[in-house]
Amino acid sequence: MSNLSIITSDIQRIRPCDPLLGGMPQLVQIPGLSRTWQIVSNCRYFSRNRVSIALNVFYLRWVAEFGDDDRNLLLMLNDLLIEWSTKEKTMSGYTYGGDKVENARVLGLVLSPGIIWINTDNKLNVCETSLVHELIHIGLISQSYRGDPDHEGPIYPGWSAKHTALMYSINSILYDIENNLIM
Ligand SMILES: [Zn+2]
Repeated sequence: MSNLSIITSDIQRIRPCDPLLGGMPQLVQIPGLSRTWQIVSNCRYFSRNRVSIALNVFYLRWVAEFGDDDRNLLLMLNDLLIEWSTKEKTMSGYTYGGDKVENARVLGLVLSPGIIWINTDNKLNVCETSLVHELIHIGLISQSYRGDPDHEGPIYPGWSAKHTALMYSINSILYDIENNLIM
C-alpha cells in the first residue's frame, strides 16, 4: 500500500458542524485527511475547511524546510484529533526562549502524538490560535524528538529558531487566507 493511499477522504460526503443538530460540542471530520477530526463547541469558528487548509499549508511548508522522507509526519497529520476548547488551563511550561514559567495560562497542548488541545480564547481565526505551534511539536515528534517542550531552550533538543520562524511564517500565510475567506 502506498503512503498516499492513506488519504481517502471525500470532501462531498463529510458533514460540517451543524448548529441545527443540537448539542455541542460536535465531532467533525476534516476534509482531505483520512482520520483527522476536530471537536468544536461552536459551529461559527474554526470550520473544518479552515483547519484543513491550515494542516495542508503547515505540511507543505514543513516539508520544504525540514523534509518528511519517511512520511511519518504525513501519517500523523492523517490520524489526529484536535479539540477546540473554551476551558482555561494553567500549568507549568516554557517560553519560546526556554525559560520555565509556573502556573501559566496554557493556549495549547499536545496531549499525545495524536491529540492536540487548543484553547480558543475568543479567537476567530485559526492563525491566531496555538494550532500551528502545536503542529511544530508534532513535526518534531515525527522526527523522533520528544516534542521539545522547552522550545529554543537547552533542556530538550529539537526546536530551533528556524522552527519559531516557520511558525510565524505559516501563521502569516494563514492570516492572509483566512481574512479573505467567507465560509
Ligand atoms: Zn510549545
